[in-house]
Amino acid sequence: MEASIETRTIDGKAVAAELRAGVAGEVAAFENQHGRPPSLTTILVGEDPASNVYVNNKHKACAEVGIFSSDERLPADTSADYLAGLIDDLNADDTVDGILLQLPLPDGLDDDELCGRVAAEKDVDGLTTLNAGRIVQGRPGIVPCTPSGVMILIEEAGVELSGAEAVVVGRSNLVGRPVASLLLAENATVTTCHSRTRDLAEVTRRADVLVSCVGVPGLIDGSMLKPGAVVVDVGTTRGESGLLGDVAFDSVQGVAAAVTPVPGGVGPMTIACLLAN
Ligand code: NAP
Repeated sequence: MEASIETRTIDGKAVAAELRAGVAGEVAAFENQHGRPPSLTTILVGEDPASNVYVNNKHKACAEVGIFSSDERLPADTSADYLAGLIDDLNADDTVDGILLQLPLPDGLDDDELCGRVAAEKDVDGLTTLNAGRIVQGRPGIVPCTPSGVMILIEEAGVELSGAEAVVVGRSNLVGRPVASLLLAENATVTTCHSRTRDLAEVTRRADVLVSCVGVPGLIDGSMLKPGAVVVDVGTTRGESGLLGDVAFDSVQGVAAAVTPVPGGVGPMTIACLLAN
């Protein structure tokens, strides 16, 4: 009889707390050197309640590690020209180190175009075409926060990525694509799945490392895993009982070597990585 695997839960909260403590130390060193703390300016256009919560959380997190943050709040009917002008001014302002344009923008404003206007070196979200391109080319750049958090959690799980089979489910510019590029940069053999993948389970069963970034609760269950796989669940869907991941957590117990929970896995890493950026 095969011995059952004891599945470890990867504690994203604890890893994120360590990362934040490291950032607080770097902030203090920056302040010693420059006579001021590093600074982040966020831009929120419109009244979307979820975006409002996200932006407030980012300011709170900045304050906790000593990063100075300021907030530009603009009405939903702000013109593209006005927003572009504001981004240009912040790009040129030497006292602003990071700029975060909260997405999605209200209808009528082009997310890609306006986000792409942020200077690459101030693009703390790592979403400009220049930073995205650098990741694809395996060159240094600012890495988007969630993919960066995913890679840290994989490292925390003790995975040897070189030569490993890695499967990423999801191909968004925000998560799936950068995760795939980062895994490739670590010499994993990477397969990316998406909504047109013919037999998802057949592909996921190859994975030594499986990263799911879809947003369909329970999409991945234990029958779709290779025994001993490390599973990182990026999916977060708000259900009646709270946040739900893509992975059927109970069903992967005894099959996966390690799995990130939702909540408490990738989520806490995202803001910690933003602070690091
Ligand atoms: P997205 O832009 O909607 O992308 C979802 C991806 O999943 C797409 O590539 C889509 O394929 C693929 N997909 C959809 N249904 C599928 C299926 N049945 N089988 C295989 N692939 C399927 O979403 P996202 O922005 O990448 O976010 C993904 C999830 O991560 C969401 O739940 C989001 O809330 C969560 N998230 C969490 C954090 C965090 O901090 N924890 C951060 C960001 C995002 P196609 O390309 O073919 O449409």
